[in-house]
Amino acid sequence: LPSVYRLKSVQSNLHQRGIGGLGAEFADIFRRAFASRVFPLHVTSRLGIKNVKGMLLFGPPGTGKTLMARQIGKMLNGKDPKIVNGPEVLSKFVGETEKNVRDLFADAEQDQRTLGDASELHVIIFDEIDAICKSRGSTRDGTGVHDSIVNQLLTKIDGVEALNNVLLIGMTNRKDLLDEALLRPGRLEVQVEISLPDEAGRFQILQIHTNKMKEISFLGHDINLQELAARTKNYSGAELEGVVKSATSYALNRQLSMDDLTKPVEEKNIKITMEDFLHAIHEVQPAFGASTDDLD
Ligand code: ATP
Repeated sequence: LPSVYRLKSVQSNLHQRGIGGLGAEFADIFRRAFASRVFPLHVTSRLGIKNVKGMLLFGPPGTGKTLMARQIGKMLNGKDPKIVNGPEVLSKFVGETEKNVRDLFADAEQDQRTLGDASELHVIIFDEIDAICKSRGSTRDGTGVHDSIVNQLLTKIDGVEALNNVLLIGMTNRKDLLDEALLRPGRLEVQVEISLPDEAGRFQILQIHTNKMKEISFLGHDINLQELAARTKNYSGAELEGVVKSATSYALNRQLSMDDLTKPVEEKNIKITMEDFLHAIHEVQPAFGASTDDLD
């Protein structure tokens, strides 16, 4: 089946693109996505099956949810998905947010009307979905405006059944705030927790973010990524990227004069050292350090 081929090729792409660091969670999302029948439309329409309408990716900030959602989007229809974020959709004008929510689905609706089965899958990624989908009745403004926004989104998701060409991927750091109705079967029914990377994951992420440095021999001989992975328990992918940036600036500040900044780094024969990384680890602390359970 072409879909089997797609799955394999996409997985290897994702590793190259650096999401491999999520380890087990990464494999899990693919298993769930495919077991739940999220396939390109040309496959589902031939076989007469339906995709799930929505997925929720949740977990701490900086764990690669956006990266992953983007890849799922690309995998399913070969192009960059539409990404919106909750606070952006939220308008201070009455009725405007509901309209923004309706507009998100407009392209898919138009496509379905004009192209029918030939329509492609519209993947809509909704970052910080909690900004507009807090439990109804939980806000105390007394106007009911918030409830009406949640209702609008639910109506649209329920309408997606008729459309069959939309996959909504919601993302949040605060699943606990979401309106329960959004998570019911038939709505964001595939829910995947993206947790902090374990040691093997951190090692992969550090490799990914130092890959270019390795290519131009910027990494000093004493650099031991395995040790750095062991020393960065509770760091998210974004924080590990921060560590690499911070270590780089220590190295550059130490070895480059202002004049040097105009020349290619590789010509200067400078190196980043383990000490730079240790300074950086001290400087960039994990947000969830104290509260996260032993993951490794
Ligand atoms: P938030 O909840 O704050 O929106 P997020 O979970 O969506 O965060 P991303 O925006 O996907 O996180 O990640 C931020 C950056 O951190 C990425 O651009 C990437 O550079 C780095 N990163 C995070 N996770 C990984 C990973 N698993 N592999 C490689 N890089 C990662």
